[in-house]
Amino acid sequence: MQTSAADLNYICERVNHLRSHFNSGGTRTYQWRLTQLNQLKKMLIEQEKAFLQALSQDLAKSEYEAWTSEVGFTTSEIEHSIRSLKKWMRPRKVSTPLVAQPAKSYQLPEPLGTVLIIGAWNYPIQLVLGPLVAAIAAGNCAVIKPSELSPACSALIAKLIPEYLDSEAICVIEGAVAETTELLKQKFDHIMYTGGEGVAKIVMRAAAENLTPVTLELGGKSPCIVDNNTNLGVTVSRIIWNKWMNAGQTCVAPDYVLIEKSQADKFVAKLKDKLQEFYGQDVKSNSDYGRIVNKRHLIRLVAYLDNQNVVIGGEHDLEQKYLAPTVVLDPPADSPLMLEEVFGPILPIVTVENIEQSIEFVNHRAKPLALYVYTNNSQFEQKVLNTTSSGNVCVNDGMMFMTNPNLPFGGVGNSGMGHYHGQSGFDTFSHLKTVMKRATFIDPTLRYPPFTSTKLNIVKKLL
Ligand code: NAD
Repeated sequence: MQTSAADLNYICERVNHLRSHFNSGGTRTYQWRLTQLNQLKKMLIEQEKAFLQALSQDLAKSEYEAWTSEVGFTTSEIEHSIRSLKKWMRPRKVSTPLVAQPAKSYQLPEPLGTVLIIGAWNYPIQLVLGPLVAAIAAGNCAVIKPSELSPACSALIAKLIPEYLDSEAICVIEGAVAETTELLKQKFDHIMYTGGEGVAKIVMRAAAENLTPVTLELGGKSPCIVDNNTNLGVTVSRIIWNKWMNAGQTCVAPDYVLIEKSQADKFVAKLKDKLQEFYGQDVKSNSDYGRIVNKRHLIRLVAYLDNQNVVIGGEHDLEQKYLAPTVVLDPPADSPLMLEEVFGPILPIVTVENIEQSIEFVNHRAKPLALYVYTNNSQFEQKVLNTTSSGNVCVNDGMMFMTNPNLPFGGVGNSGMGHYHGQSGFDTFSHLKTVMKRATFIDPTLRYPPFTSTKLNIVKKLL
């Protein structure tokens, strides 16, 4: 059913309402921010069962994965923000040069205003509530737009947010393209978008109309380099955890593995063993393994397997939206599997003659969101760190870096722009206003006319 322009008038009204509420100053105080963060935490604790159920409905996430990667993850982000809020809000002093003395200089964080948060479906709770934590901590009004592809989570968020948070300042708009398009016509003070590159361009174009700054949390093909000199058992366990969590639908999952040809068979054999150890013989009936979000995405993934050397898995069930943990050996570089982000439970293994060639392989492609390197060779580790570019790197593990709120999270180049998590999220949704306060008890005449050569000589020394 088409949504008419008149049906969408409420979006403009709600955004305008938030904008005028922001001007009342109510969201700027420490107390308001703290109360909202505590309420958000209360919501996650009191409604834990409802969240786990919605995640199971949308993506068949196991209780363990749903709690660790969504409910628990967001709760710890809130707790970190609550603990740090006073410190983040303080003026940040900087030194003042001689020429401007006597004076004090500092940066004063101030909220941007009314912000828009557009989330993706793969972590449907974390990806809207995480940015919301940062927006609230920074004292903003916010509109959140959950993904329509995870409808149970979207509906739950739309129901609960008004029950727990200040509705004058925070609202949820549900919907798909029509609603998001209408939202993007409104004037916001910042937009944080999580999703694919194509829509990111639409978001950025719309933002340009209002000169609205954007944070784009995108994806891409994140490589995983496996050196010969590594603990193979630990490496394979960690890769499986990172790749097959949420059935591979994770922006920071390893998209493909790069390994020396001579090591490939050993690596595949270890993958086979460990997959069986973790998920058993009958993966399909194991509730620890998730489902593909919808049939369209499953069909896309299965098509990637055409004419490929499938060495593990490959079985699928369209009705159950199931695709087995699947491994493809040496896919052609020009096949869709190697040209597009996999975003599903298929792991291509690309072999190279010498592991050093993996660096060249990575550098010939768009800058990825994450890069993983498994090695005990610190020289090789340094070479990878110093000669490749990616949003984030983890050495000898997968997405564990995300558990540290002191590490800003974000992409570079095609994998995105801007950061959040911890203080970086607070800073993203703040304007760090520069302030200089000058003393008036002296007022040297150096800068005032008449300008003399003596004055100029002194100024040249001072500046
Ligand atoms: P999606 O389909 O849920 O879309 C994301 C959002 O864009 C949704 O809220 C949707 O309503 C909106 N949208 C869709 N079409 C639109 C249009 N034409 N105009 C305006 N808005 C529109 O998610 P997706 O794009 O399938 O997400 C998958 C991608 O997101 C992958 O590339 C993945 O790597 C990336 N991702 C990145 C992160 C990160 O934190 N960097 C996290 C999760 C996913």
